[in-house]
Amino acid sequence: MAEKIIVVAESITVGELAQTLNLPVTNLIGELFKNGIVSTINQRIDFETATIIVEELGLDVELEKKAAATISERKVHELSDKAVTRPPIVAVMGHVDHGKTSLLDAILKQKVADGEAGGITQHISAYQTVRNGRSITLLDTPGHEAFAALRQHGATLTDVVIIVVAADDGVKPQTIEAIRFAKSANAKIVVAINKMDKEAANAQLVKTQLATEHGLNPEEWGGDTVMVEVSAKTGAGIEKLLDMVLLVADLEDLKADIDTPAEGLVIESHMETGRGSVVGLLVEQGMLRPGHFLVAGTAYGKVRTLLDFAGNTLKEAGPSTPVTITGFKELPQFGDTFTTYKNEKEARSAVSIARIENEKNAASTNVTGADLLKMMNQQHESQDLNIIVKADVQGSLTSVVDSLRLIDTDGEIALRVIGSGVGNISENDVRLAADASTIIYGFNVVLPPAVKQLAARDKVQIRLYKVIYELLDDARASMEAMLAPEVVETEIGKLTIKGIFRTLKDTVIAGGEVTSGKVSKGLIARVFHGDEQIAEAEVTSVQRQQQEAKEVYEGDMCGLSLKTSKKLLLEEGDKLEFFTRELLKRTLK
Ligand code: GDP
Repeated sequence: MAEKIIVVAESITVGELAQTLNLPVTNLIGELFKNGIVSTINQRIDFETATIIVEELGLDVELEKKAAATISERKVHELSDKAVTRPPIVAVMGHVDHGKTSLLDAILKQKVADGEAGGITQHISAYQTVRNGRSITLLDTPGHEAFAALRQHGATLTDVVIIVVAADDGVKPQTIEAIRFAKSANAKIVVAINKMDKEAANAQLVKTQLATEHGLNPEEWGGDTVMVEVSAKTGAGIEKLLDMVLLVADLEDLKADIDTPAEGLVIESHMETGRGSVVGLLVEQGMLRPGHFLVAGTAYGKVRTLLDFAGNTLKEAGPSTPVTITGFKELPQFGDTFTTYKNEKEARSAVSIARIENEKNAASTNVTGADLLKMMNQQHESQDLNIIVKADVQGSLTSVVDSLRLIDTDGEIALRVIGSGVGNISENDVRLAADASTIIYGFNVVLPPAVKQLAARDKVQIRLYKVIYELLDDARASMEAMLAPEVVETEIGKLTIKGIFRTLKDTVIAGGEVTSGKVSKGLIARVFHGDEQIAEAEVTSVQRQQQEAKEVYEGDMCGLSLKTSKKLLLEEGDKLEFFTRELLKRTLK
């Protein structure tokens, strides 16, 4: 065990490392040089390199990589005794078409996702409803794939998950996904068995499926999972569902402090003409008010307008409140936490610290187009699908990119997102793609005519989508197209040669007995002499009693024409195995 443990970032400059280690920087540069790395004081080296160098220098020091801050590791606040009860944050999830959106509509008594392509949302939308004087915050999580990508961002947010299962369709893959999420996020589950108005509705079946296959036992059967039968269409059961959500939430004793600087999560961000940055936030603690200085990641600003989810102006927003604000100077990233500061000076200094941290962490991934090209050429052998993604808003972009990265290819083909950004597809994107034989995916963005022309000239593929699933399907199909086909051989029959009639340069005519299965024209034959395979041939005709036959079965004698690639000296007693050979297009799991 080393005497001293020093925590360093993912990457560090040579100068910084020297300082940390209390060594003359020339020592370090020299050691790096010995290892084949020509460096300067400002050169960044990654953690692994730093570790090797420290080891080689024989210092009694151990480097430890500073964990990148992830959302799930967000600090948990100690509650003061002044903490107040806060509304539960409830995510509505379930299989596509099981009625998530309709249920939200019914709960909020208003349309929530009108005009959303395919009815699928691509970022977290948040709403609030009031039941018996108590607020409930509802998160509309995107479709399941996008959702999986969002899991890390949404996980710590969610107190309760309403899992919507259509009573006429039962448990489906995304239902299971949702259950898994809820469990991993440590959220309570309330099942809404929806579409009870339908004739084919079978709540019992849904309950049985959930109980027997997924460990969710309905309360009425002595278990502890609340299941409510509802119809988003008629509104039946909705109030009971909300009561149950509140009941389940009460058991959690959800609290937050309000006498503390406001903090929370960025759940949406985009630019709007006339308004500038429009950012969706979910306040987790404290009271957010207009005029507060905010920092999220490396973006900062001052709350100019504070609106609730429905667009009404708010004077303040407390814990669990979803709000939309304007006033950020640049767009914060979806999933960033935000913090408020007393004044602009503090906010700015927090931003500069965040920038430095960010640069340090990003350095290792900060490659230029030229680097990329080089990497691509080097990796020409490996099968890569390179993708550039452009999307309308940051939330969508994160969803698309994260979902793309989730496509599993068994490591056979790598999908590499070599560029991504918010905004329309640009000539720059096309140039980068042209260099790297890349597909550009545009999500909810426009393709300007000039860019289209350039793409056509450079034969760059651009694909525009409005529905995330379709985009993902396309990417998957593109990857599948790159997979080598699978060769499938099916054995059809066997035959033993009884006589050879003619042997030509590339054809043998012989007779034999079918010993198993059958033989027919077009099959491939493996020819065995003893145990040894001596040739492969194609059956070009089959005859039975001097007549051309379609098929001859086990137990019958037949004549055969075999086409070979070179002269085949067949002998009596040789065995033939017949089979079909197909090239199957492979699909990804
Ligand atoms: P989502 O993909 O889970 O958001 O599902 P939607 O809310 O878009 O609903 C999918 C379809 O099911 C739509 O055609 C809805 O009108 C229909 N639907 C949703 N809830 C109900 C319900 O309670 N009863 C009936 N009959 N249809 C419903």
